[in-house]
Amino acid sequence: MRYEGIIYRPPSEGGSLIIQATVGCPHNRCRFCNMYKEKRFRIRKLGDILEDIEEAGRYYDPRSVRTIFLADGNSAIMRTEQLLRILRRLREVFPGLERVTSYGASQYLSLKTREEWEELRAAGLTRLHCGMESGHDPLLLRVNKGTSMRKHIEGGRAVRAAGIELSMYYMAGLGGREMWEAHALDSARVLNAVDPDFIRVRTFSPMPDTELGEDFLAGNFSLQEPRGVLRELRLLVENLEGNGLFLSDHWLNFADIHGRLPQDKEAMLLSIDRALAAPREDFRPVGLIASSL
Ligand code: SF4
Repeated sequence: MRYEGIIYRPPSEGGSLIIQATVGCPHNRCRFCNMYKEKRFRIRKLGDILEDIEEAGRYYDPRSVRTIFLADGNSAIMRTEQLLRILRRLREVFPGLERVTSYGASQYLSLKTREEWEELRAAGLTRLHCGMESGHDPLLLRVNKGTSMRKHIEGGRAVRAAGIELSMYYMAGLGGREMWEAHALDSARVLNAVDPDFIRVRTFSPMPDTELGEDFLAGNFSLQEPRGVLRELRLLVENLEGNGLFLSDHWLNFADIHGRLPQDKEAMLLSIDRALAAPREDFRPVGLIASSL
C-alpha cells in the first residue's frame, strides 16, 4: 500500500486498515487546521487505489480485516461511481468487512443526493465522520470552514436518511469568549435537526502554524479558560434533544463527558457541574499547542 504524507484518521478508526483514496483536503482553508497544509489536494487514480486494495488483500489475512478507513480528508467528495467501485472491490477482497468509513465535511455531504448515499450504503459505506465544528454561521465564516448551518443540516440529513451512520464533531471553545453562547446554541440546533449517531467533542487549541494561532499570538482571539469551555459545553448538552451517543474522546477536552441522549443528559450535566467545581490547577494549561494529535 502506498501512503502520501502524514495520514490522519479519527481515534475510533485506530484499528482500521487505511486505504488512501484522496491526498489532502479539497477545502484546506479552515483557519484553525494544519492537517493537510503540505499537501495539494487530488483524487488518486482509481487504478492505483484498486492496486492498493489488492496488495492489502495479499498482505493481511483478508478475513481478519473488519474495518477500513478511506483517507485523506473528505474522500466523500469523490464521484459516486468511483466510490462505488472502491466499496465493491473492498467487499470482494475482504469478506469479513463490517465497517467502511471516511471523512466528509458538510459542504461535500450536501453535494450528493439521498439516493446516491443510499447506493453507497448498499455498496458498503457504513459511517461518515463530519467535522461540523460549529452550527453558528458567523463563526463558520470567521474560521473559514466553507460551509454553513444549512449545509450541515442538508448534508447530515441526507446521509442519515440513507442509513449511513454519522459522527459529527463539535469544536468546544472555537467561539472564544465572544461567541461561546451562540456557538453552543446554534450547534445544538444543527445536532437536533440532524440527530447524528455520534456527537464527538474536540476542544479548540490554537496551533502556531495556523491563522487562528497567529490571531491568538497577536492578541486578536480571546481563548476560553477551562471553566468557560465547560459552561459552553453545559449549554450545548442542556439544549440537545436527539438520541445519539455523546463522546468526549480527545485529550484536549477538559472533562470526560459521555452518555446516551436523552436518558444520560442529567448525569452528563452533573459531571460537567462537578468538573466546573474543580480548582484551576486540575486542568491542563491553555495556550498554543504544537499539534492536536
Ligand atoms: S478542518 Fe477539515 S475541512 Fe477544514 S481544512 Fe482541515 S481537513 Fe479540511
